[in-house]
Amino acid sequence: MRTYIKNLKDSIGSTVLISGWVDVRRDQGKLVFMDMRDMTGKVQCVVLPNHIEAMEQVKEVRTEWVLSISGIVNKRPERNIKADVLNGDIELEITNIEILNKANTPNFDVTTDGKEIGEEARLTYRYLDLRRPRMQKNIRNRHRMAKFIRDFLDKEDFIEIETPILTKSTPEGARDYIVPSRLYKGTFYALPQSPQQYKQLLMASGMEKYFQIARCMRDEDTRGDRQPEFTQLDMEMSFVKKEDVMELNERLLIELVTNLYPNKKIQEIPFPKISYKDSIEKYGNDRPDIRKDKNDSDLLAFCWVVDFPFFERTDKSDNPNTEGEWTFTHNPFSEPILEHKNQMMEGKNLAEILTTQYDITLNGYEIGGGSIRAHQAETLHKVLNIIGHKDEDIEKNFGHMLNAFKTGTPPHGGIAWGFDRLIMLLENEPNIREVIAFPKTGEGKDLMMESPSSVSPKQLKELGITIDSNKK
Ligand code: ASP
Repeated sequence: MRTYIKNLKDSIGSTVLISGWVDVRRDQGKLVFMDMRDMTGKVQCVVLPNHIEAMEQVKEVRTEWVLSISGIVNKRPERNIKADVLNGDIELEITNIEILNKANTPNFDVTTDGKEIGEEARLTYRYLDLRRPRMQKNIRNRHRMAKFIRDFLDKEDFIEIETPILTKSTPEGARDYIVPSRLYKGTFYALPQSPQQYKQLLMASGMEKYFQIARCMRDEDTRGDRQPEFTQLDMEMSFVKKEDVMELNERLLIELVTNLYPNKKIQEIPFPKISYKDSIEKYGNDRPDIRKDKNDSDLLAFCWVVDFPFFERTDKSDNPNTEGEWTFTHNPFSEPILEHKNQMMEGKNLAEILTTQYDITLNGYEIGGGSIRAHQAETLHKVLNIIGHKDEDIEKNFGHMLNAFKTGTPPHGGIAWGFDRLIMLLENEPNIREVIAFPKTGEGKDLMMESPSSVSPKQLKELGITIDSNKK
């Protein structure tokens, strides 16, 4: 039976079988040393000259070969003990080697942190890159974080519900990725920019407390810490006020940091709140970096930003045809603050209307945002009117929301976290690609799979699509 490398210390004096990869190999002629690695850690192995068969076998072996090794777990002599290193006080005396698979010379070293290797190479051979300890740690900690969140929310009576990937455009302010329909030629699904409408419809369905670790796709111009697809912790709750959503999320963030990142220090609890206006005046942006000591990599300064304007005028870069018209700053489905509701319903002083939006920031990054939603049809209808939708469009594009609201939809609100970004910050990584198993490049390419790629003429024909070759 296989013993995991981290458990070898419990088998001193016994013969065990381990399986894994050759991390490092040092041939000293009479003795051959190998560090073996599995998902639980590393151990130094040695072939002594008296094990003639093993000595023959080990001469052939190279780094990254996959082996099963039988051996005896020995205590290291006092002078060779490495304190504070896993298995620093033991060594495996190899008696037999079974080669499970050979490996070509790796394209790059997987034992370093990888910062010295070009990202193109790392992403082209991502399966190999993921073997390095730093990437193993990031991906495993990402799992721990997702699990912690799931357990926490489960205890709070939330349920995780999957929502469709093939869906219809929902306005989050970015361009949609679209998928052609074969059965209904000339029509398209949109990939979700967020589960916003579905989660609100789940509130109409009486689910009351929803969450999802959800994939979102936005066809935006690429930037350092953006990806065409990214992950949100998305949630929605019924019968809540802004303070309830903020309280729950604050508690979750504090517990998550305390349990999973005990070395980190949260600067201020409860998290401070700042209005959008004050943040712009004081910090010049709406994601203030309020850290008292910016050199301390373990300091976490969370901050809520509230009282955002609901509407703003569009500028040319959005769309030259609608320049100067009203658009939403965050989310068209939000409720304005109570004091401004009447004003909004009358369509007055639109620039002054504040929304119930709350953003959560960490060390100068926006890590989440949400709001209390309009849950009455008239309110949503009015917002859509203000941002330029004609009544017929509203019926066509948002009829399902308005109809749902008319069937008895409770007041509700929610939030979504940028899950990748939060992990990036907690892991002190410079960009989100370091915490995503298979990210795309800054230019939106998957170098390993060579995607995007062309499809066969047959596939295009089935979809009724012709490619304008001049526009390639
Ligand atoms: N759907 C919003 C977003 O993706 C988050 C929310 O308001 O819950 O930013």
